[in-house]
Amino acid sequence: SLTDKLQGVFKRLRGKSSLSEQDVNDAMREVRLVLLEADVNFKVVKDFTARVRERAVGEQILEGLNAPQQVVKIVSEELTALLGGEQAPLTFSHQSPTVIMLCGLQGAGKTTHAGKLAAMLRKQGRNPMLVAGDIYRPAAIKQLEVVGEQVKTPVFTMGDQTDPAEIAKAAVDKAQRYGNDVVIVDTAGRLQIDEALMDELRRVKAAVRPHEILLVVDAMTGQEAVNVAKGFNDALEIDGVILTKLDGDARGGAALSVKTVVGKPIKFVGVGEKMDALEIFYPDRMVSRILGMGDVMTLIERAEAAIDQKQAAEFEKKLRANKFDFEDYLEQMQQVRKLGPLDQILDMIPGLSGKVPKMPGASEESEKQMKRVEAIICSMTVQERREPTIINGSRRRRIAAGSGASIQDVNRVLTQFEQMKTMMRGFSGKGLGAMPGMPGM
Ligand code: GDP
Ligand code: MG
Repeated sequence: SLTDKLQGVFKRLRGKSSLSEQDVNDAMREVRLVLLEADVNFKVVKDFTARVRERAVGEQILEGLNAPQQVVKIVSEELTALLGGEQAPLTFSHQSPTVIMLCGLQGAGKTTHAGKLAAMLRKQGRNPMLVAGDIYRPAAIKQLEVVGEQVKTPVFTMGDQTDPAEIAKAAVDKAQRYGNDVVIVDTAGRLQIDEALMDELRRVKAAVRPHEILLVVDAMTGQEAVNVAKGFNDALEIDGVILTKLDGDARGGAALSVKTVVGKPIKFVGVGEKMDALEIFYPDRMVSRILGMGDVMTLIERAEAAIDQKQAAEFEKKLRANKFDFEDYLEQMQQVRKLGPLDQILDMIPGLSGKVPKMPGASEESEKQMKRVEAIICSMTVQERREPTIINGSRRRRIAAGSGASIQDVNRVLTQFEQMKTMMRGFSGKGLGAMPGMPGM
């Protein structure tokens, strides 16, 4: 991947104590190849490497950094700038409702992301409405209705015989009357950009004057994503981009080019098919991810969002008092599930990022292990869960038989549970009180 290769380049630099102009040039040649291979736009790469080289050679070495670290710092700053620098927030209208129009090619993820956005806005205390503006694909309206149900958001539809511009207008009127403060308009897509589609989208735009026109693009399409973004922006003047399917093995190159080539920021990234698989796009965090430093902030935020705060405080209290037992642990395992696929979580931890095996099935393997541990705990009596010290040899045999595990498995879970408790006592008070250790892994 892009990350692996860039890390290779930096690893070679890290071995050095000082840096010649030749070193910088060699490193930049490699960075250039890596970026091109990752599908970053040619001109973007050229400008980027030139800027880094100039700064790396010309700049004074900062105190506390050695020369290679300085290059990494410059590369990360320049990559951040390439991605737009600051996080670009959504614009909300002072006058309700704020209108968000989604557009993009067929299959890019518009309908899915209409739902994800609604879910995110609802979490922020807003009251969104979804609008079925794709009247061509037979199942499109139904799909949006299913999505709306999942995220508990009303869906406005007028069937498939009314013009989408009219539908959007009527939806905004209704939102005004019913107090929906955000209107999210889903629109039709085509396999390719064509004039008929652009005409229709222009009419929708003219009818409701959206505060945000977000283009939904599929990261898997690589360089093509950038061309599509350019086409839509020329026709519609978009405000930002949602880059979807970054959970697949998309080459990150598209993300790096969109801002520079189109001049519009990426505002969100889609990282899965589920309704909570939407992340706000932070350029600096994306860069640390690309450079393999792990994305601790995202991890912490996800953990905070998923783990019930009160319960976390409760766990922490128990840990302090050394009263954390298998019942709490079982509950906590269920919390961890909410964070997302295990391999994705592990990949965000510095030191582990890039080292988590990406083989197909790796995630399922961890899931299976977790299920095995769960089965073992479920075979304990309530008393055993609360007081693991009473689990003697005969109890171990019974638990093993009950859960279909071997005695060694049971022993391992018991030992690792103790280790985890010790480790977690170390964590507590450092803000990550509820970060779970994972026996069985
Ligand atoms: P639309 O034609 O633009 O409305 O696209 P849809 O919302 O119908 O999405 C097309 C397909 O892509 C569906 O199967 C979605 O589940 C899938 N999809 C959308 N966003 C993502 C994402 O971020 N990650 C993954 N893996 N799949 C996605
Ligand atoms: Mg759709």
